[in-house]
Amino acid sequence: MNRLFACVASLLLTPALLPAADTVLTNRVLFIGNSYTGANNLPEIISQIAASRGRVLAYERAIRGGASFEDHCTKFGAEALIASGSWDAVILQNQSIQPVKDPTNMFSFGRRLCDAADDIGARKILYLTWAYAGPRDFMTNQLSARYSPRDVDILPVMQDRLNEAYGQLAYDTGADCAPVGPAFGLSRQMHPEWRLHADDNSHPGPAGSYLAGLVLYATIFRDAPTGATTVIQLPAEGTDAAAHARTIQIDATQALTLAEIARASVTNDVTSRRISKHPLANTTAVFTFPSLPQTLQARASDIRDTPCASLYYPRNYETNRAFPVLIHLNGGKGGDGRVPHEARIVSRERDFICMNLPLFKDELEPLRPDGSNEWSRLFIRDEDGDVIWAAYSVMLSNLFAAVPNIDRNNVFLGGFSNGGHVTAVLLNRRDLSVTNYATRFFFIEGGMRWTNAAPLARTARVIVLQGGKSGGREWLRRMYSNAVSNGVPAEFHVMRDTDHGFGREGRRMLRTWLYANLDTGTPRAIPASRPAASTNDLRIDAGFPGGNIIVERIDGDHIYVRQDLRDTTGWWFYWNFRVQGAAGRTLTFHFTNRNVIGTRGPAVSFDDGAAWSWLGTDMVHAVAEDPSFTYAFRRRDDCVRFAFAMPYLQADLDRFIARHSGDRHLAVHQLCTTHKGRAAERIHAGNLDGEPAHRVLLTCRHHSCESMASYVLEGILDAVLAPTEDGEWFRANVEVLAIPFADKDGVEDGDQGKHRAPHDHNRDYEGESIHPEVRALRTLVPEWSAGKLCVALDLHCPYINGKNNEHIYLVGSGNQRIWNEQCRFSRILESACEGSVPYRSAGTMGFGSGWNASGNFTPGKGCSRWTSELDGMRMSASLEFPYATAGAVTLTPDIARAFGAHLATAIRRYLE
Ligand SMILES: [Zn+2]
Repeated sequence: MNRLFACVASLLLTPALLPAADTVLTNRVLFIGNSYTGANNLPEIISQIAASRGRVLAYERAIRGGASFEDHCTKFGAEALIASGSWDAVILQNQSIQPVKDPTNMFSFGRRLCDAADDIGARKILYLTWAYAGPRDFMTNQLSARYSPRDVDILPVMQDRLNEAYGQLAYDTGADCAPVGPAFGLSRQMHPEWRLHADDNSHPGPAGSYLAGLVLYATIFRDAPTGATTVIQLPAEGTDAAAHARTIQIDATQALTLAEIARASVTNDVTSRRISKHPLANTTAVFTFPSLPQTLQARASDIRDTPCASLYYPRNYETNRAFPVLIHLNGGKGGDGRVPHEARIVSRERDFICMNLPLFKDELEPLRPDGSNEWSRLFIRDEDGDVIWAAYSVMLSNLFAAVPNIDRNNVFLGGFSNGGHVTAVLLNRRDLSVTNYATRFFFIEGGMRWTNAAPLARTARVIVLQGGKSGGREWLRRMYSNAVSNGVPAEFHVMRDTDHGFGREGRRMLRTWLYANLDTGTPRAIPASRPAASTNDLRIDAGFPGGNIIVERIDGDHIYVRQDLRDTTGWWFYWNFRVQGAAGRTLTFHFTNRNVIGTRGPAVSFDDGAAWSWLGTDMVHAVAEDPSFTYAFRRRDDCVRFAFAMPYLQADLDRFIARHSGDRHLAVHQLCTTHKGRAAERIHAGNLDGEPAHRVLLTCRHHSCESMASYVLEGILDAVLAPTEDGEWFRANVEVLAIPFADKDGVEDGDQGKHRAPHDHNRDYEGESIHPEVRALRTLVPEWSAGKLCVALDLHCPYINGKNNEHIYLVGSGNQRIWNEQCRFSRILESACEGSVPYRSAGTMGFGSGWNASGNFTPGKGCSRWTSELDGMRMSASLEFPYATAGAVTLTPDIARAFGAHLATAIRRYLE
């Protein structure tokens, strides 16, 4: 909260940061939300505030109880509603807890709504909601149960997480953010007497809706609501409006304060992140550990969650000096590890790398029906020590490896209540492994069973903080005395502002102790174990198959690079490079020719390109003026590859062929020799006896950079060869001809392949072909077909990002007969994909829409148009499989292969 106060102070002093008031007097606005928008008729409150400032708000409401962005998109037709009106602005409010529980879902559907607003040129305004005022009775609330029950541990960090989710969506989509939630948090501190929440701790009361109205008014009209009306006339719910008018009256002085808060709040965290000195400063990295056991919180709440730990870089973070670490463990169920909230507050977000780990427990007693053991069953005991340390040793080694400049002499670990018990349990373990990481320990209202103090004499330091508001509670003094009598330098303090809690006084005491116990006696600017790397050791290159990069310059830890366009006319986005000699360093890679980072961040490989994963977007700075990503090389990262997407090269194809070697239903022949003398393959699969009922043609990589399409092709061929019903049917009835690399030189050389001069491989199906692969294919296929070729699919990947490029789709034919067949095939494919890969028949791009128009084909005929004109062809199409994102799903090679298997199923059902 200190952050918000600072924010208010600075903005009140610098009103220029507020968007300039313009002359907009009327706004037509569509509200999309749920009861947080509907309660007290918020749109009408804003309308009355606007009227009192001489402005007009014309509005419509799309309000559905409990609805999320996803519900609005999939059930209530919000995109069509947006498209149907000439709105100046669309206000978007998501379900209250979903941004915390499932931000990925929020991002994908929030982006759809923002895209719809972009299509009609409307402003997008995100209505950033507030944290609950206290626990809700989740057990009786079916809507909320969808988003996991009884999650009281989330409350202290709920606002931070809401800010992060809405801030990220605003950042990604260019939407404005109306920070109602931060204004709630701030006014609850400044005016705790105001009742902003309704009795359910969730919905807004009249004052809360009024505050929301002020903030939204300021954002919609870009006008400070100073002197706005404080009297709102609203119809009481469910009654005749005129007869039962209700007045919300708030003291005028208070309203002015509220207005100032609203003004000051028209900013968001993202802005401060963008202007911070170091790209990592003031950012949180969340580490996931899918192979670790479920956390105590997940088990006690009956939910499943990927175990996470988090690391926060302070505001004054930089890489040229070492930083101490503050690890705080929460009480109760311990939280989900995603936010180092308490450590940030204690350290005031300066000087310390902050970490948070969740709690783990061995045996968890079931909850008794009467709830009498609800809390006692959570207590961490010595017998939980092995389970906890097994998880912590993995988490700590990863977190510590992520930061090259940790000051290992100054690592502080401790916790509140149950987090204090965990600290005690770790210290009671005989091997004391925890001291390989931390040597300073704090206990806040917990840890009374710590007995193993003697081994820590002279090496550790300890502070014990005990609540004492009501006096006479001396329950932790014994462990403190035991520590002192064993020679451990220890302090004991009573927090007089709380009993079982951790408030302002305790935080101040802990902060003082932290700084007093920073060991500066042996200054080690950078830990000695860090390799003495100089820029001479650092090597960045593209000298391997598929490689593509131009290194412009290296400026310390900042590398400036751009994609190599070669013979591509215009702009494209493929790159793939290798970094060696960077172990232990943190490097930022800046791209100098526009943003070429995909929707899931760069792909990364640690084994010379055999296996790939997505780096994610946490360390990506996708700003238009300086797109970049940062990577902290671990000590074992001798050689790391980064690429725009997951590459698929000759070596991958060879692995695939080797996997099926000896299978008589697979034959690999040479299609032709390429320009550069390589042998391009043609693969035959299925019924190779010469008398199949049908023939099917699959082509791939007409655009050499479109690597994800190759994994789809593998999936189809795997299905044809698999010991399944589909496989048996194919091997009895179909001969498949697959061209894995229609532009083989481009694939191996790492070309863009798209828009080659004078034309690329997919515009080479007219007149005399200039590319050997295409020339060979045009000769081979009519001959091979023998009138039995009835299905042809040309596999592609779409553009880098954007709404037409983040779902899987068929490209519609301009030929009506083929189009009808495409529609039928598409419906079959959708049902084959059901419950697995997101494929929507409705996403098919009709001829004449999007980029799929005749003007785009003037440089020459494409493969799928050529196949659609072959004798006997029933269904031919280009298929676009995105590089990284399909709807809400992050794409991987495995998902692409699974989709390929569904394509095989669909082809079978279509032909049967
Ligand atoms: Zn393509």
